[in-house]
Amino acid sequence: MTEHLNHFIAGASAEASDGRRIDLISPVDEKTYGSCARGTAQDVNRAVKAAHDQLEGGPWSQLTGAQRGQLLLRLADLVERDAEQLADMDANAIGRSPMEPRRMDLPNVLANLRASSGWANQLEGRTIPTGGYFGSKTLSYTVREPIGVVGAIVPWNSPLMITVWKLAALLAAGCTVVIKPSEETPQSALHLAALAKEAGFPDGVINVVTGYGAEVGRALCEHPDVAKISFTGSPEAGREIQRTAGVLFKRVALELGGKSPQIVFDDASFDDALRGCALGLFVNQGQICASGSRILVQRGIAERFAAALADAANAINVGDPREADVQMGPVAKKAQFERVNRYVQLGIDQGATLLAGGVSNPEQGWFVRPTIFANARNDMAIARDEIFGPVGTIIAFDTEAEAIALANDSAYGLAATVWTTDLVRAHRVAAAVKAGAVGVNCWSPLDANLPWAGSRPAASAVKAGSVARWPIPKRRSSPYCYLAEVETVTPSTFGTVP
Ligand code: NAD
Repeated sequence: MTEHLNHFIAGASAEASDGRRIDLISPVDEKTYGSCARGTAQDVNRAVKAAHDQLEGGPWSQLTGAQRGQLLLRLADLVERDAEQLADMDANAIGRSPMEPRRMDLPNVLANLRASSGWANQLEGRTIPTGGYFGSKTLSYTVREPIGVVGAIVPWNSPLMITVWKLAALLAAGCTVVIKPSEETPQSALHLAALAKEAGFPDGVINVVTGYGAEVGRALCEHPDVAKISFTGSPEAGREIQRTAGVLFKRVALELGGKSPQIVFDDASFDDALRGCALGLFVNQGQICASGSRILVQRGIAERFAAALADAANAINVGDPREADVQMGPVAKKAQFERVNRYVQLGIDQGATLLAGGVSNPEQGWFVRPTIFANARNDMAIARDEIFGPVGTIIAFDTEAEAIALANDSAYGLAATVWTTDLVRAHRVAAAVKAGAVGVNCWSPLDANLPWAGSRPAASAVKAGSVARWPIPKRRSSPYCYLAEVETVTPSTFGTVP
């Protein structure tokens, strides 16, 4: 099947202004299976205008919170109707097993849409006690307003889920949006926008402009009518976006990468820790921001644990993910394939012990062998850098203090996992590890009600980490992130200014 995908602007399909297109290539056989419009600054202008018009007196701006919530619920029902189709779109585009987005991403998408629908009617301002105005008492209050048009820039690894983390919250807040999906995975965002139209969202509230980051993404960052950029992706792109959007003093939320530790103590349930580490390492071919790729194991069990994880890696059937007995497909794109291989070679060159996998050289498709390194050090490239592939690095430690120090010796601070049956230690270590989310005896639970953000100080985030979005509360997708707080101060009498 050849897919011919266009932008979705003001409720209608649109070609790129100059007619140019981007090929969509299957990671399974490297064949072109379709194309999408290669967006231009002119296309972005059209989409932003449609979104802006809705806020400036358009039908969307007239809706109550309850009505916005109702639309979100309708959208959730339509997404549920098309859930398998949406999951398969995301899976096929990056060569992922369709069972993963069906079981993990789509339930989270539905939960987010439904949770946000409840927020839409609950977004309140504040009354603030103030000291008075030249002797006259004051009534001071704030009103919360949608901040405006949001530019939502999304990566390829879980396209629909990450789009909805942004979309559900910003719609609940009353904003409008121009979504820029990854150039590899535009399908599900376009389908979602069409479902929103079917649900009754006014045309122009949700727009999708497909294309490259340096063209469409950049044009969104530079557009004066885009109030906020909500970005998920690599630290390198995040840094550039911060710089570009900063010139216009836009709000920017950056959800960046990770090199998350999984700390396995010798009192942990060995089998649970093994299953959890394998899941955190190999799901989505390791292409997950919270991937638990730095595995710190207490020395007494380190050798046995490494051998068992290598066995688990060797038991994975790698192949065409559409086949029933295949557990792992290829990595998403050629650049990713080359990056993973480069790091595997670096691990070998820097002296880590290769227990499973190795440099991959498939005949066709970007297939990578699940790879385990043992006897690694935390200063090796395979322990410091985000590889974004199925490569695990095992480092042994002796004491709890050493485990915490190793876990925190990283430029990243997105997530961590602690495996132990000692309840007191679990809480102690969870508190000491510098990460935005810590799982105890579970790797990276997804829940629409949980916050999601990195916790590194700005200095290391500038190097390569995750930056917490703000303002508080930092729920995974809090509508408060998409609101402005406007203040009013009223003295109780006139004419009191001396
Ligand atoms: P990427 O940074 O290459 O691209 C992400 C998006 O940004 C794409 O849509 C891309 O076209 C666009 N883009 C790229 N450069 C841009 C620029 N200069 N201006 C504007 N837009 C630009 O990242 P990727 O390869 O798609 O995704 C992998 C990265 O995303 C990893 O680092 C991963 O950890 C991170 N990620 C983070 C989270 C999180 O929640 N923290 C979730 C998923 C992925």
